[in-house]
Amino acid sequence: MTIRQPNLNEARSKIVATIGPACEDVGKLIELVEHGVDVFRINAAHGKQADYERVLNKICQVREQTGFPVAVLLDLSGPKIRLGQLAVDPIEATVGAELTIVRGNESTHEGELCCSYEKLLNEIKVGDQIMLADGVISLQVTSKTRDLATCRVLTAGTIRSRQGVNLPGVTLSVSSMRPEDIDNAMWAARHDIDFISLSFVRSAQDVLSLKNLLTSLDCKALVIAKIEKREALENLEEIVEAADGIMVARGDLGVEIDVAETPVAQKRIIQVCREKMKPVIVATQMLESMHENRRPTRAEASDVANAILDGADACMLSGETAIGNYPVEAVDTMNRIMVHTELLLKNQKSSAGTRRSEQVHPITFAVTHSAADIAAAINAKIVVVASHSGGTAWVKAQQRNYIPTLGVSDNVATLRRMCLFWGIMPHRVDKLEDPQQLIESITSWGIEQDLLTKGDFVVFVTGTGILDNTHNLLVVHEVDH
Ligand code: PEP
Repeated sequence: MTIRQPNLNEARSKIVATIGPACEDVGKLIELVEHGVDVFRINAAHGKQADYERVLNKICQVREQTGFPVAVLLDLSGPKIRLGQLAVDPIEATVGAELTIVRGNESTHEGELCCSYEKLLNEIKVGDQIMLADGVISLQVTSKTRDLATCRVLTAGTIRSRQGVNLPGVTLSVSSMRPEDIDNAMWAARHDIDFISLSFVRSAQDVLSLKNLLTSLDCKALVIAKIEKREALENLEEIVEAADGIMVARGDLGVEIDVAETPVAQKRIIQVCREKMKPVIVATQMLESMHENRRPTRAEASDVANAILDGADACMLSGETAIGNYPVEAVDTMNRIMVHTELLLKNQKSSAGTRRSEQVHPITFAVTHSAADIAAAINAKIVVVASHSGGTAWVKAQQRNYIPTLGVSDNVATLRRMCLFWGIMPHRVDKLEDPQQLIESITSWGIEQDLLTKGDFVVFVTGTGILDNTHNLLVVHEVDH
């Protein structure tokens, strides 16, 4: 049995890896966890619930075999618009060619496009741009009648059935969740999924609709809002407040807004998340060339490093792990870039996380802050945050202190949540209630794992609910045996 134990040298930043044919056997998934994956992403844009169920069963085996509580994120497609079934598939679109868009989900003539969104023809106008295949192909609407739009091809490419459609700047009345999303969210609730992300969020209300649905299902999954539309950037502050976490979904974002705007948008999104103390994942094309190569480009290595320096909690791999030739190498590379980059944070007193968001309890904020200051002052070996719900670990993560932090809980769902929290290494204990017992058991375990020796200091923070009528308790312990 391979056990992934907390390791003082592992990256503090977290890795989300998308599952797909390149990595979905148990052996490969275990390798990915051993190389640093913290969260597996199941992309609900592909496959059916029976497929997600199969993958989830494998992840459960991975948890058992590695002893690591790897978390699962189910990514809902939301109002993603796609082309329908084309009569002639593919269409080679050349610059200047004319194509038509007709109503319905199936076209009948060559050169005719159709779309999964029935109101498309009502909501586009002459002059609007229509982007296909992640923005590779662009069309412009030149004329429109009730049931037909004519478009000119501006950028050439191969058009295929069910390719993604982006309409930059067009306000759509499509609802935030389609029936499939609701059904998949219900599946996630039944299967104890840890994080549910929603694509194409436009407002805080979109996030709240999903949260209300999950509450009605008694589901405690954290909701991650994917920022990939200009409207989401316009409503960013409210969306970050409403969500439990954010994903900078650069794939669609880079089509919905000018790709030249995305680096600054990424920095702004991360900054707002840091101010509001919400975890943030940077996603898409981080190590894109590793689909085909064992080594990344220099620019890709810098992209991962810059996301960490901007303040991201996690970086995500998509095709690199799902369909690439080198999924393990991609995870290993991302982990190594993170470890090297984080050295810069080692001696830096972080300015982020020094202001409290209104959503965070002042006592939790003050105690976790003091714990970090004390740990730095006495050069503590580790900080231990004990928490039933994960709330204290969440707040601690936002402070970006380099001293390794164990997130300790007796609740497996809490341990899995901690997998997305920067710098928190999840560790299971049987009981949290007795602080004395907790200190003894963590100390013995640390000595056994060669993490602690006589004379080392350990700072313990126990979260709310550990003792009756107590908020947080801070204990400094010196290892004495
Ligand atoms: C993205 O657009 O960057 C993204 C992560 O979403 P998806 O993979 O669903 O396109």
